[in-house]
Amino acid sequence: MIVGRFAPSPTGPLHMGSLVTALASYLDIKQRGGEWFVRFDDIDPPRQDPDAIEHILTALDAHGLASDRAVDYQSNHSQRYEAALAKLQSQCFHCSCSRRSLAGIRVYPGICRNETEPRPDTALRLRMPDREVGVDDGILGLRTFNLAEAFGDTIIRRRDGLWAYHLATAVDDGNDITHVMRGQDLFETTPIHVYLMELLNLPVPVYSHLPLLRFDDGSKLSKQTHAPAVDNTCAADNLRHVLSLLGQNPPAEPDWSVGQWLGWGTTAWQVEKVPPTLANFTKKP
Ligand SMILES: [Zn+2]
Repeated sequence: MIVGRFAPSPTGPLHMGSLVTALASYLDIKQRGGEWFVRFDDIDPPRQDPDAIEHILTALDAHGLASDRAVDYQSNHSQRYEAALAKLQSQCFHCSCSRRSLAGIRVYPGICRNETEPRPDTALRLRMPDREVGVDDGILGLRTFNLAEAFGDTIIRRRDGLWAYHLATAVDDGNDITHVMRGQDLFETTPIHVYLMELLNLPVPVYSHLPLLRFDDGSKLSKQTHAPAVDNTCAADNLRHVLSLLGQNPPAEPDWSVGQWLGWGTTAWQVEKVPPTLANFTKKP
C-alpha cells in the first residue's frame, strides 16, 4: 500500500508555497494509486494560530485536495511518542543548557552527555554517533551526512515538555508513510529522521524534497514573511499555476474545473520535470 501525507503546521493560512507541496504530494501519490491524507503537525501550541486548521482545510477542499483518511493530528499521538521515547531512553541524556548559553553554537558540543538522571526543566537529547547516514532523495539524489558533525546531539523532547518536531515526524512518517514529498527546507534534517527510524525499527519512506517558492527578495513564503493566503475563489487557476511552477507544462485551458486539473495532473505528473528552483512569487501591489 502506497501512503503519502501533507503535513502542515497550523501556524497560518495555506499560502501558495504550501499549495505547491500539497499538490505535488497529492499527484505523486494518486498517480501511484495510493492513499493521501492530511496530518496537522500541531505539537507546538505557542506557535499555532487557532484559526489555521479550519482555514487550511477549507483551502484544501476548495482545491479538491480531499484527504483519503480522517484528518490526523500529531497532538493525538502522545502515546505513540512516549512508546518511542521509552525505546530511545538508553541513548538519551538530560540537557540543562539554556538557549542563551548555546547562542552562536551550531552543533551542540555534548556538555551534558553524562547527565542520565532525570531532572526537572531539562530537555532530552539523543546522542548522535560519528556515523554517515545517506538519504537517496527522489529529486536531489543521494547525499550523505555525518550525524555527529552535521547535527550533534539532537533534542527530542523540549525543556517545556513539548515533543520535538524531529521525534514526532520520524515516528509518524515511519509508522505507515511510504512516500514523503515536502519542501527542501526540511531536507537538511532528514538524516535525523532516518536515524530515528533506524533506532525504532521503522521502515524509512522514499523522500523527495521540492524546491521552495520564494519571494523576489529570496525569502521563502511563510507566516513570518507574511505570505498571503491562497485565494479559494480562483482554485482552478491556482492549480494550473502551481502545475506550471512545477514544470509540468499544463495546457492553456481557461475553463477547466478543479477536478479536471487534478485529473490531468494525476496522469501527467513527472517528478523529473520539477525544476531545481521555482519561479519567484511576486506580491501583488
Ligand atoms: Zn546541555
